[in-house]
Amino acid sequence: MEESERIISSTKNLSDTEVENKLRPTTFDDYVGQDKIKENLKIYIAASKSRKEALDHVLLYGPPGLGKTTLSHIIASEMGSQIKITSGPAIEHAADLAAVLTNLGPNDVLFIDEIHRLNRSVEEILYPAMEDYSLDFIVGKGPSARSMRLKLQPFTLIGATTKAGNLSSPLRDRFGVMCRLELYSIDEIKTIILRSSKILNIDIKSDASIALAKRSRGTPRIANRLLKRVRDYVQVAGKNVIELDDVERATKLMDIDELGLDYSDKTICYAMMDKFQGGPVGLDTLSASTGEESSSVEDIIEPYLLKLGFIARTPRGRVCLKAMYEHFNRPIPKNLMNNSDNANYN
Ligand code: ADP
Repeated sequence: MEESERIISSTKNLSDTEVENKLRPTTFDDYVGQDKIKENLKIYIAASKSRKEALDHVLLYGPPGLGKTTLSHIIASEMGSQIKITSGPAIEHAADLAAVLTNLGPNDVLFIDEIHRLNRSVEEILYPAMEDYSLDFIVGKGPSARSMRLKLQPFTLIGATTKAGNLSSPLRDRFGVMCRLELYSIDEIKTIILRSSKILNIDIKSDASIALAKRSRGTPRIANRLLKRVRDYVQVAGKNVIELDDVERATKLMDIDELGLDYSDKTICYAMMDKFQGGPVGLDTLSASTGEESSSVEDIIEPYLLKLGFIARTPRGRVCLKAMYEHFNRPIPKNLMNNSDNANYN
């Protein structure tokens, strides 16, 4: 299935934009969870403000929909700076990036989403810009060519990526602050759902918010999207409060089970249990044998199955764990203990 067709996809689609802007927290206090990251960032921000310097460059990494863009807006607003937003694939030429960089004001924030997708020549412009706030370029051709250096205003680059390992090491090494965003707990997602339902002007019962949180895959973007869908469902039924039964029925209609697993996740789980006898199996093999996009298997499906304790990583590939067989009511194979022994839970 195409990633963009999935309701529980954590990747942003066009219909998310308007409501996301409305629901986006604007202060650290409103930003639920990720406590360690918030604590560290608050200290770094206070320190750089007192020195009247730009904040160190920040790399945010983790699955889509966890709040990287939101956090960047908050950082900029806490610094009292402007933020410019762009993405790796949107910057095609070195000159495009040079134009963005020369337009930044002192201590401004430049947010580059999907920074791992910058092409090589664009990336090389970033090195001196990040290190010395300067741009190096060549003027003229042949023997008369000269190298010129242009001074930029001090700025903070915030890069976002699904995995830090996707970045080239010269780029990665130039970030002073690296933050790994984790999938949220059910309690944290419940808090986000309650906050969003207030903004969207719909009541939700406590047990209904927990049921919705359990189906949100630890991802605020999915929680907000499911909340909107269930709100539609109850409003069409002429009600103005979401109850447990509404969550159960509406999500069932969307073919999402009580853990938030949809068709694509189930396809992967069934393939691992049936075609590959519980593994070990590599991600590329899994995606080729199921027709699921390899990036969505790696960035979206796998992190959630790991969090659920359905699979584990081993040096030879991914293996199924007991919880997966239990969830799908399958007999647990005898050799499963070996999987658990070799598993590397990370
Ligand atoms: P990413 O950039 O990681 O893909 P976003 O920052 O765009 O994710 O977040 C997606 C949506 O999820 C935001 O619009 C916001 O409403 C919500 N969100 C993300 N993180 C949080 C959080 N920590 N607290 C509350 N809402 C959040």
